[in-house]
Parts: sequence; structure tokens; C-alpha cells
Amino acid sequence: MLIPLSKPDIGKSDERAILRIIGKCIRTGRLSRGPTVAAFEKQFSDYLGVKHSLAISNGTAALHLALLAHGIGQGDVVLTTPFTFVSTSNAALYVGARPKFVDINPKTYNIDPAKLQEAINSKTKALIVVHVFGLPCDMKPIMEICEDHHVTLIEDACEALGATYQGRKAGSFATSCFSFYPNKVVTTAEGGMLCTDDDRVMQVVDSLRNQGRKGGEWLEHQYVGFNYRMSDVHAAIGIPLMRKVDRLNTIREKNAKLYSNTLKEYPQVKIPPDVDGRTWFVYVVEVDDRDRIGSELNKAGIECKPYFPPVHLQTPYRLMGFKEGDFPVCENVAKRVLALPFFTSMTPKQIGHVAKTLGELSRR
Ligand SMILES: *Cc1c(COP(=O)(O)O)cnc(C)c1O
Repeated sequence: MLIPLSKPDIGKSDERAILRIIGKCIRTGRLSRGPTVAAFEKQFSDYLGVKHSLAISNGTAALHLALLAHGIGQGDVVLTTPFTFVSTSNAALYVGARPKFVDINPKTYNIDPAKLQEAINSKTKALIVVHVFGLPCDMKPIMEICEDHHVTLIEDACEALGATYQGRKAGSFATSCFSFYPNKVVTTAEGGMLCTDDDRVMQVVDSLRNQGRKGGEWLEHQYVGFNYRMSDVHAAIGIPLMRKVDRLNTIREKNAKLYSNTLKEYPQVKIPPDVDGRTWFVYVVEVDDRDRIGSELNKAGIECKPYFPPVHLQTPYRLMGFKEGDFPVCENVAKRVLALPFFTSMTPKQIGHVAKTLGELSRR
């Protein structure tokens, strides 16, 4: 029996609801840029408490458009974290900007505000914060630092749907991006969302995602745009799942607590922080001798992954001159982290089995 790392949560009743909506798309011929995308966007804005949500073909494209719409371009310095999925800083490269990394807090894995304060200067144009693994960044000092330096703030909230910081939802502090890839809490197979309270950003993104069209006019283009649209068929998958996002997050929290309670018996395993308002996108522990433990777990039929490797040590970034030792906190964490199987439908028995197998391996 293989226990996978992740599994989308689409139940029987969700399946029926999805097929009903897709059936309507097919019968009406409204397969893209139709009422289903609009309904999904409205549902998302209501959930997050933002003025505008724009459905995008994926989370990476949403990040790309966020930078473009905020006027980030050639030669601009964009700060972000090296402990994230590669698309965060790739988005800066897409627009010709220069990514600069800020090291992380070893407890939260998020950007360290004190180090941000040191790194930011008059050349900095934007900061992309990432709420890693569903744990919101320390937004209060971060927003103050950005305001002091007139730096555009963008949230990569791809892993933090439903998380809150001081009562306010992650992704509602600035222009933000979400992803609906199948390993995310809510999926549309492929998909993303860009959220903003800024009317001008909304208009630019609406045009750029649709080939730079002007006011939706068929063949009038005001920008060199992209085909970054979400289809109505994809949005149809998201609508029933968004309805139950809070329920999904509650179950995931319960699963995480079950993991942590079992793993507390094994002091060699460092369990993830359970802070107020966080959500659980993944369950990631730290262990010494991670590679041995990881491969033994895989051999035992328990899928697990080192997550994340540092972005600045990926080939394209090394070619830009980044190297080992540049961001020591991130590099040390990255050597120790291990993502365990984690999904809504995991049974207590499976969680217990994974936790005990890991715990015993950590003792050797
Ligand atoms: C998933 C993810 C993305 C990318 O989303 P896609 O929809 O796969 O393009 C970007 N940033 C983070 C932090 C993510 O976890």
C-alpha cells in the first residue's frame, strides 16, 4: 500500500456538482470567458474579502501578471524568499527584473523582517512575500518596511488559501496570487487567481490575460498580452470545492495535530509550528540525516519529498552568480526538511503509521 504525498479532495457530491456545471457549459457553448469563470471569481472575492478576483490559467501566470500590472520591469530589483517554489522568483525574471533574496526565519520558514530591513534600499522596486506551507508572513512589520521605502508589495498566497493574519485573510493585504494545481487545497486541475483592491491593476490584468484586448473588443489590442485565461470548464471544478474550503482546512488542521501529537514522542523529529491562523498546505518536519530517512520511508511505501530545495541554488540562479552560503538559514533548513503524506482524506491509521515509521527511523 503506497501512501501518496498529496491527493485532491473531490468527493462524490462534488463530482456530481462539477459535472452538472460542466454539462451546462457544454450545452450553452460557453466554454471560456463565460458565466462560470465570472461566478468563480465572485465566489473567490466574497471569500477573501477583496474587491477584484481575476481567474488566470495558473498561479505562475498570475505572478507574472501581478508584476507587469504594477509596472515592474527591466532591471528593477525584486526581493523575495529563496525558500519557495521556483515560480515566485521566476516571475521577476519573466519581466526582466533582477531577483534578490532575503533569508528566512528558521521557525516559520518565511521571510525574516529584520533581514528584509537590511536588504531593502532605494533600488528595490517590489517585494514578493510567500506564505510558505500556509503559515502567514509577519505582515505588520513587512508592510511598514514596504511603505517606508515605497516598495510594491505582492503576496504569493498560493499555499495559504484560508489562512489569516491578525484576523485578515492572507492574500487580502496586497495584490495577491493563488494557484489551483491539484496538490493545492482547492483545485481546478490547472488554474490561478489574481486578487486586488486596485481598480487600475484589475483593468490591466483583465486586458493582459486576454491578449491585451481593449475592453474585451474582439481584435483591438492595447498591450502585448498573453493567453492566460481560465476556461469555464476549469472554473466549474473550483466552484463546489471553494464552497467547502473552510471545512477542508479544518480537517487538514485536525490531521496536522494528529501528526504532531504522535511525533512529539520522538524528540529527533522537529514538528512544524502550530500558530494561530495558519492553514496546513503540507505537513513538513525537520530531521537530521534527512536523505537516509526519506529514502527508507519511500522504500516502506510512504511517499515523501525534500521540500523546498533553495531556489538560489537551482541551475538558472547559479548561472546568475548565486551560490552556497548566500542564504545560510534557508540552506540549513532545506537540508533538513521532509514533506510527509498529507491530504484531507488521510485516515488516523495512515497518519499514525507514517508518524511511527518516521519516528522509529529517526532513532537509528
Ligand atoms: C503552487 C505554487 C505556485 C505556482 O502555481 P502553479 O499554478 O503551479 O503555476 C507558485 N508559488 C507557490 C508558493 C506555490 O506553492
